[in-house]
Amino acid sequence: MMALDISQNKHADVSMEEKDRLFAEMKSDDRWNHVLNGCYECGICVASCPSAKFYDFSPRIIAQAAAREDTDLMYTLMSDSVWDCSQCFSCDRCPRENSPGQIITIMREVAVKNGLKTAKEALQGYGRIIYKIMLTGSQVSPDMLQPDAFPDWGTHVYEIADNLEDWRKALPPETLHTTETGWKIDEKTIIELYLIWHMTGVMDLIEGVDEGLYDIIVDVMEEKLEEAGYDDITFD
Ligand code: SF4
Ligand code: SF4
Repeated sequence: MMALDISQNKHADVSMEEKDRLFAEMKSDDRWNHVLNGCYECGICVASCPSAKFYDFSPRIIAQAAAREDTDLMYTLMSDSVWDCSQCFSCDRCPRENSPGQIITIMREVAVKNGLKTAKEALQGYGRIIYKIMLTGSQVSPDMLQPDAFPDWGTHVYEIADNLEDWRKALPPETLHTTETGWKIDEKTIIELYLIWHMTGVMDLIEGVDEGLYDIIVDVMEEKLEEAGYDDITFD
């Protein structure tokens, strides 16, 4: 297994001013002071973290780097490690009431908002999922499990894709015995979701990581919002 590479100057091409600026953006988040209170180095967060069992990943290192305000290391971590977190928040059992998972949420958001190349790469495989969820309000349907869509899921995705009908029949409940649909969301709910995403800046995040995907989604959203009487809402 490769060791977690947290060497300083790994991103020497990025100026310290830029790293400081990104860290300041994290710290300015209203949640920051509620999720970071210094670190005992006790390792309880690591012991409870599922991602730490499978990856070279440590919530303790992230909490410590944040507490020490090590902007260089924070940049390295936000360019790599943070994408290994499964956001389960088991690490919230920290005796200092830190939440490494929440710190990571903030780091990810800053990475996405600033269009970091590493964030775009990490989210590349999720374009189809984002597309499906945002246009239908529904979940990923099983027919989306195709090797070309999820190249990083390993070879077993071929077996699943090739035998999808059989897999679906083998899995309860009956309503999910389809390879084409999830469940239907009514139009009123879809419109509410579009308004929430518009008002909360979700669309800006999407634009930051994938402009092509953003354009496609916005076209559909604007049309549906107009039909529903929200013709004053635009995304530019
Ligand atoms: S559980 Fe809390 S105090 Fe202990 S190492 Fe993790 S972040 Fe630090
Ligand atoms: S939220 Fe992330 S860091 Fe915390 S326990 Fe879950 S996977 Fe680990």
